[in-house]
Amino acid sequence: MQLYNSLSHKKEEFVPHEEGRVNMYTCGPTVYHYAHIGNLRSYIMEDILEKALRFEGYDVNRVMNITDVGHLTSDGDTGDDKMLKGAKREHKTVMEIAKFYTDAFFGDCEKLNIKKPETVVPATTYIDEFIRVISVLMDKGYAYEAGGNIYFDTSKLEKYYVFNDFNEEDLAVGVREGVEADENKRNKADFVLWFTKSKFDDQELKWDSPWGIGYPGWHIECSCISMKNNGEYLDIHCGGIDNAFPHHTNEIAQSEAYLGHKWCNYWFHVLHLNTNSGKMSKSKGEFLTVSLLEEKGYKPVVYRFFCLQSHYRKSLVFTWENLDNAVVAYNKLIEKIAPLTKESGDIDRAEYDRLMTAFREALDNDINTAMAITVVYDVMKSKANAATKLALIAKFDEVLGLDLIANAKELAENAGAASADIPAEVMELAEQRKAARKDKNFALADELRDKIAALGYEIKETRQGTEINKL
Ligand code: AMP
Ligand code: ZN
Repeated sequence: MQLYNSLSHKKEEFVPHEEGRVNMYTCGPTVYHYAHIGNLRSYIMEDILEKALRFEGYDVNRVMNITDVGHLTSDGDTGDDKMLKGAKREHKTVMEIAKFYTDAFFGDCEKLNIKKPETVVPATTYIDEFIRVISVLMDKGYAYEAGGNIYFDTSKLEKYYVFNDFNEEDLAVGVREGVEADENKRNKADFVLWFTKSKFDDQELKWDSPWGIGYPGWHIECSCISMKNNGEYLDIHCGGIDNAFPHHTNEIAQSEAYLGHKWCNYWFHVLHLNTNSGKMSKSKGEFLTVSLLEEKGYKPVVYRFFCLQSHYRKSLVFTWENLDNAVVAYNKLIEKIAPLTKESGDIDRAEYDRLMTAFREALDNDINTAMAITVVYDVMKSKANAATKLALIAKFDEVLGLDLIANAKELAENAGAASADIPAEVMELAEQRKAARKDKNFALADELRDKIAALGYEIKETRQGTEINKL
C-alpha cells in the first residue's frame, strides 16, 4: 500500500514494523462540545484507512485518547482551558461534560459507520503514567522546571520542526496566537508537560505530582497513551492537519526523547473541511453537527459519501448545495443497486477478480476513496450478473461503510410494498400491456400505458420486470 507520509512529504510504500500487524494511533476529540462535521471528516478518513488496512489482511491495533484535560484554546500553552470553558458554559462539572460529549461523539461515529477503536483512553485515567514519563524526561535532561511548571526543552533536540522546515519566528506558539510569550520558557518552542502554576485558579481537576499539585499538558497525553498501548514502535499516527504543529511535533519530541529512538514511521494527516468563510472549528461557536444534518433530513451516511468523493489530502468545501449533490448521487446509486437484491445466481469469478483488483488498487493508492467510488459505478456498468455485482458491492462496503446493500434492500422492499397498494384496474391494464408487449403489439402497449397514466400511474419496464409508481 502506498501512503503519503507527512514526515517525508511523499507517497511511500507502507511497511509496518511487524509483518502483518499495524499499530495505529489517532488523536481523539476534546470533549468540551459536540464534534463538528469537520472533526468527523478526519475520523471518517481515518476509519477508512483502518478498514483499508484490514482489507489488505493486516491485524490493526488502533488506539485513541479522549482529551478531557489539558487542551488550551491556543493548542499550545496559552488561552483558556477548553474543558473548563465547556463546563462553565453548561453550569456542569468538567467530568459531567466529558462524559456527555464522549458519549455524543461515539453516538455520531456510530451513525457515520466509524468503527470505535479497540482501545480508547480518557487522559484523566492515565495521570500516573504521564507523571512517570515526565520524570524520565526530567532525569534525562530534556525537561526543566520554571515558575512552577515543567517544560520540555526543545533546544536539546537535533531537529524540532520535523514536518517542515518552518520558520521558527512564524510558528513559535506564543507568536502564532498573538498572545504574550511565557517568560518561563527557555526557548520559544518549549512547551508545558505539567502545569502547577495554573493561571486558572478555578482549575477543577488537579493531581499531586513530584512538582506540586497540577495537571498535564495536552501533548504528553497522546505520547503516553500511545506508547503504553501501541508499544515503543508506532506504525501510523493520524490526525487533522492542524494537529501537525504544535501537537504532533511536540508528541514526536517528547516520545523520541523518552524512548531514545525513532517512534513513529508514518504520519497520516487529513486536510480540513472548510466552509465558505474558512476552517470549520468549535471555537468559532457556530458549527455543524451530525444531529443538525439529521434535523434537516439528511442521512448521516450521505455525509460520509460526500467525504469519500474527495481525497483526504485535499481540503473540502462544505456547502448545502454540495451536500445536496451527494444526496442525489447516493440515491441514484441505491436505486441502481435495489433491483439486484432480488436476484440470485453464481459469481462470475473473472469479473469479480477484475473489479476487486481495481478497488484494491484505488485504496492502495494513498486511500483514493474517490477512485474507489468510481469502481462501484464500474461494477454497476459491468457485464457481470446481479449476484457478482452484489457480492462485490457488499465486500467494498466493508471499507466504504455506506450501507449500500441495506438501503438498496429497503428500497426494493418498499417498492414491492407500494405495488400492493396499486388499484386492481391499473393492475389489470398492466397485465394486458404485458401480453401486448409479448405479442410485439407496441402500439397497443403504448395505448395501455397512456390509460394507466390517465389513472395516475406510471408504468416502466426494468431489468427486474414491470415497475408501477404513482405519478
Ligand atoms: P479536537 O476535538 O479539536 O481535538 O479535534 C479532533 C480532530 O478533528 C483532530 O484530529 C483535528 O485535527 C480535527 N479537525 C479539527 N477541525 C477540523 C476540520 N475543520 N476539518 C477536518 N478535521 C478537523
Ligand atoms: Zn494527540
